[in-house]
Amino acid sequence: MTDDVGCIIIWATAKHMKVPYRLVVVYKKTLPSGLSDFSPAHTVGQERHKLSISTPKMAVSPVLPALLLILVFFDAQVHTHAQCVDAELARAARACSRRLSLGQRQCRLFPTPERSIIRSLRPGDFRLSQLRKGVFLYDNSFYTSLILKMDRRLALLDIPESISLDGPDGNRTSFASAAEQVLNGTIPKRIDIVYSHGHFDHIGGTTRFVAYMEERYPSASIFIWGTSTARVLIENSVTKRAIFPNVIVGRRGRTLSLGEGLDVRMQIVGGHTASDLALYIPRFRDEPSILMHVDVVFPNWAPPFNLAVTEDVGGYVRVHEELLKFDFDIFISGHWSVGDRKSVEMNHGYSKDLVQAAITALDEVTIEDFNEAGFGRFIDPTAREFGNVLYAFVSVSRRVQIEACYRIIIDKWGCRLPGLDLVGRGHCFTALTYVEIEY
Ligand SMILES: [Zn+2]
Repeated sequence: MTDDVGCIIIWATAKHMKVPYRLVVVYKKTLPSGLSDFSPAHTVGQERHKLSISTPKMAVSPVLPALLLILVFFDAQVHTHAQCVDAELARAARACSRRLSLGQRQCRLFPTPERSIIRSLRPGDFRLSQLRKGVFLYDNSFYTSLILKMDRRLALLDIPESISLDGPDGNRTSFASAAEQVLNGTIPKRIDIVYSHGHFDHIGGTTRFVAYMEERYPSASIFIWGTSTARVLIENSVTKRAIFPNVIVGRRGRTLSLGEGLDVRMQIVGGHTASDLALYIPRFRDEPSILMHVDVVFPNWAPPFNLAVTEDVGGYVRVHEELLKFDFDIFISGHWSVGDRKSVEMNHGYSKDLVQAAITALDEVTIEDFNEAGFGRFIDPTAREFGNVLYAFVSVSRRVQIEACYRIIIDKWGCRLPGLDLVGRGHCFTALTYVEIEY
């Protein structure tokens, strides 16, 4: 990560003009003082900024008067990449922005910044690291979860699906091997399993894990904590890869105490499914506090697929506020890498901007844009596309709206969220649908 490199992309779009005017300034060390207000918190949405630069100290200051004229004249919108995470990524994002503004759709794959690289493991392997006394991070490159141990108590926060190792029975998953490492010879008297939510990619190792533990430690009592929504999801499943929760977490939340200051507070916050749990381990003495919430924030990365397959975009955006109410040092997202408060704040800023980008796209795309994209063939009796409503809806109108939204978020976030080049259009599709039918 390079903290000392950033970029500001300033673009001016005149109404009825096809190509935005664009000036890219690469700066070192700090933002010029006159632009310091344009932090992500102040650039949420597509609100129009009248540029007011008081005392800019930029190497390119001679161009500013001309720039000011252009911006004021063309009712300018100003966007910044105030927190580009990597110079190479910033260059790729700028190049992509230029191509998109010229109407091209393809950009070169963006580079992966050093801090975002996921060190892949062979199938069945895992990494185990201690976060604080009694709390261990399980990480198999794609999934993360927590294993807690205090005296003869063992607790698992999610049990991701994982393949069998070459153990004597098929129930032994790589997660069971990780739990054995944490136990380090201790015979557990009680095992608690907590489901962050009801999706099997995060809890689908449970049935096999419990079968293994019951056989290996028959005297241990096993409790499974989860919401009634998770219970319904499991009940309705065909494969039953997870076991029904027998301790239901309701709206008032619950706390699991393992002793010696190690508690797990459970609170329904939603954001991904209707009743996702925030799992909070409060600070104890000088041990760090940990917040686990799965499938919304993806530290150092853009969320995958259509906004991580959220069921509720409004809930997705709002849940960040709930998460930020917790006082936490470490953030466990269920995937890829460990984050912190900044990871949540950044994804919050992005998700709000995404919705605003969808609103702007719907607002600014015109009939002329649709015609240019080929709408005429839908109403031309001689054309192959004649009468094909899905062509008109998917290949013309939605595509044009997605491209407009995608240009905005690549401009603003392409150099901050690795992978946005691959998933941004999917995010825009989800946000456009949300704005159209629920906003
Ligand atoms: Zn999920």
